[in-house]
Amino acid sequence: MPDTVEQMPAIDLEAEKEQILRRYRGLLRSVRGERTSENTGLIRKAFNIAMEAHKDQRRKSGEPYIYHPIAVARICAEEIGLGVTSVVAALLHDTVEDTDLTLEDVRDVFGDTVATIIDGLTKISGVNWQTDSMQAENFRKVLLTLAQDVRVILIKLADRLHNMRTLESMSREKQLKIASETLFLYAPLAHRLGLYGIKSELEDLSLRAKEPEVYHDIEHRLKKGETVRRRFISRFILPIRQALEKEDFDFEIKGRPKSIYSIWQKMQTKHVTFDEVYDLFAVRIIVDSKPELEKADCWKVYSIVTDYYQPSPDRLRDWISMPKANGYESLHTTVMSPGGKWVEVQIRSRRMDEVAEMGLAAHYRYKGEEEHVHAMEGMLNKIREMLSDPGSNALDFVQDFKLNLFNDVIMVFTPKGEMRNLPVGATALDFAFDIHSQIGRRCIGAKVNHKLVPLSHPLRNGDQVEVITSRKQQPKAEWLNYVVTASARHKIKQALREQKGKLAIVGKEAVQHKLRAWGAKVNDENVNILADHLLATSATDLYWKIARERFNLETMAPPPVKNGRLVLPKGVRPKDERPLEEIVGEIRGTAGGTLTIGDDVQNMEYKLSPCCHPIPGDDVFGFITPEGIRIHRVNCPNAVQLMSNFAMRIVKARWKGKDSVEFLAGIQFSGIDAVGLVNRITNIISHESNVNMRSISFESKDGIFEGKVMAYVHDAEHLHSLVEKLRSVPEVRSVERIDH
Ligand code: MN
Repeated sequence: MPDTVEQMPAIDLEAEKEQILRRYRGLLRSVRGERTSENTGLIRKAFNIAMEAHKDQRRKSGEPYIYHPIAVARICAEEIGLGVTSVVAALLHDTVEDTDLTLEDVRDVFGDTVATIIDGLTKISGVNWQTDSMQAENFRKVLLTLAQDVRVILIKLADRLHNMRTLESMSREKQLKIASETLFLYAPLAHRLGLYGIKSELEDLSLRAKEPEVYHDIEHRLKKGETVRRRFISRFILPIRQALEKEDFDFEIKGRPKSIYSIWQKMQTKHVTFDEVYDLFAVRIIVDSKPELEKADCWKVYSIVTDYYQPSPDRLRDWISMPKANGYESLHTTVMSPGGKWVEVQIRSRRMDEVAEMGLAAHYRYKGEEEHVHAMEGMLNKIREMLSDPGSNALDFVQDFKLNLFNDVIMVFTPKGEMRNLPVGATALDFAFDIHSQIGRRCIGAKVNHKLVPLSHPLRNGDQVEVITSRKQQPKAEWLNYVVTASARHKIKQALREQKGKLAIVGKEAVQHKLRAWGAKVNDENVNILADHLLATSATDLYWKIARERFNLETMAPPPVKNGRLVLPKGVRPKDERPLEEIVGEIRGTAGGTLTIGDDVQNMEYKLSPCCHPIPGDDVFGFITPEGIRIHRVNCPNAVQLMSNFAMRIVKARWKGKDSVEFLAGIQFSGIDAVGLVNRITNIISHESNVNMRSISFESKDGIFEGKVMAYVHDAEHLHSLVEKLRSVPEVRSVERIDH
């Protein structure tokens, strides 16, 4: 990303030069494998060229620009485990785009491979943000280059990671945009490539940018609980450690809490408190095994763990016998600790652990280039298949791609025991289309584990599926709602198009027949006049609608005919059909792009979105829809998707000073039931000045109560003070704002 500013503030240039050299030497040390003088020479050459090319540039923070490529190269070497070629390419990754250096210069000095990678990297970022689907288009480009050389995408990830680590100097707008894009594209991509460490750091950094308060709150709580957690873990692993030592294992045990982002996500989706999520953490046992013994050793460790602790029977995950699609191998079990807490135990070999942390690049180290390429073939084939689909637009493509490649995969079986991989959420119909498109088209249902199920039935890992077909069956438009895979959707659309084509012939005959009956000429002109009159978008659309009996020509009064030409007025469209850009321009007006939300809340120009109930004081943005502008909270569950997919439809929004308008907000709380509690809480709320309670509900079960209050408040501060008051009631354990 070319975030440079043209300025040379008064800085100690000598100290800076020293700092640059120090960073460069750090990079050299981080490069793995044999450090031949030839390799070191290449890196030095790349460093000198990058240094020269960027010499007049500085980052937004004021630092010399060269810090960035050095850092990116170091991430490539140290955190992704890439080799010299990638380090060289990373050092040069911004030169062709941002400086006078050309691709040919790079090719002359470093050869074709490095030049190809740089070219890929330049293409990815050389996209202007002009339309809604640019983000998606950009992404398609990322994948196209991925299909050429996976190092392009790995360096791009390193680039993004460093930009995220140094996000502070950006404007707030830009931070939000980059963070959203990171959550939407780059973190899932890192996940799919098996780079777990980078994936969770990207997620954490995005959360820190988007919701700093939430982030720091969780961070603080984690620190506070660290001693307790450590004590618990050391007590938990003590008997296991002793048993492993007795069996002569070389091993390492790690006990780490979940990432801040994953804690936050769990709190959001499961509506649980920090403490409930925090309780869940994983203990990882890594054994140093000989390659031929890794599997047996892992199971031996499993048996030792379960000698001491009772495992949960439905929580055993064996990704050693059947690794995940991204190469992840590990044995997971969840056991009951003496304190009555469930603890997840992950068991894996040293090699498996490196693969899990560093992804495909670690495969590379262990297996060599051939197998590495082979491991990626399946994924690349799917990408090529999707890219070659002419019917898909870029946005659909991204959605499908995310589903097919970013989600985890389930394994299901045919009646003959053949294994098929499908994304999580795939249905019986997806399975049918996966077997063969003709099977899919004729599918009327399926037997899953010998039980009859409908087409829309979601499959689960390990299901055995038998498809039931009928020759009379035909694909229907609603089938598109039953499938999640891109290929099934594509095949259904294709079948529907064919049907439409057949129907169009029927409709065409009906139109020709009618034109003759009216005494009009059978020609394109008359067909178009009729289509315009009936508001059909084209002749085909007209034929199709007539065949589907949306239009009935039989009941239509015969129109006048002049010289064989129909005399019919154009139909009038009932509503505004102007292009979106026009409406957007009108809504945006001349206000410089920032929407001020003030006293005129009732104004038709914008509405507060019902999905996140923004109130004054919340961090908000406007989203342009054909019906006007919707105001969302920045942390609305839909915001990530909206911001990264429809960047051009986002308008900045801020609240005008305070006003007397009241906003409906919801608070949810829970705790331990006690006598008179309902009364006390009701009192607190009604004594709070200016709170107008709309509804309150309590539910108590087995000594635990849950309550909900809907009240009118003035702004976020007001709501916050109410939440604090409720928190101060001793029996109340959690208080939360309701988002939806
Ligand atoms: Mn960069």
